[in-house]
Amino acid sequence: MTTLHPWLQPTLTTVLATRGQCPHAIMLQGPAGLGLPDLAMALAHALLCDTPIASGEACGKCVACTWLAAGTHPDLVVLRPGDGDEDTGKKASTQIRIEAVRTLIETLALSPHHGGRRVVIIDPVDAMNTASANALLKLLEEPPPGNV
Ligand SMILES: [Zn+2]
Repeated sequence: MTTLHPWLQPTLTTVLATRGQCPHAIMLQGPAGLGLPDLAMALAHALLCDTPIASGEACGKCVACTWLAAGTHPDLVVLRPGDGDEDTGKKASTQIRIEAVRTLIETLALSPHHGGRRVVIIDPVDAMNTASANALLKLLEEPPPGNV
């Protein structure tokens, strides 16, 4: 399970209280260093957990939580600025490029693998360039079912 800063716990609790009516997109906004990527990951774990605890948080014990802890859950997609490649000499990108968004769109066209829900984290969303943001816009307007 993700360790969460104590000041983010009330936000997590509030969002999880609406689990039944979870919106298809949630924007977490705040200053750098607040721990928002950890909050996004805690939300993802809670939404993907097979047997959440009474508060709605992930149990940390089920198959989905085991996959999440190992970083191998097939229904958690994290988009971050591109990594470099030592073999090809390609430099790391500071942007989330349109190719990554196109790959995401193809992925979301398929049904989630486990539990009927898929979670996508875009971190940070302001790393998207204009083309990638425009490609994502269509997805946000008409989200495939089961995707958050
Ligand atoms: Zn679990």
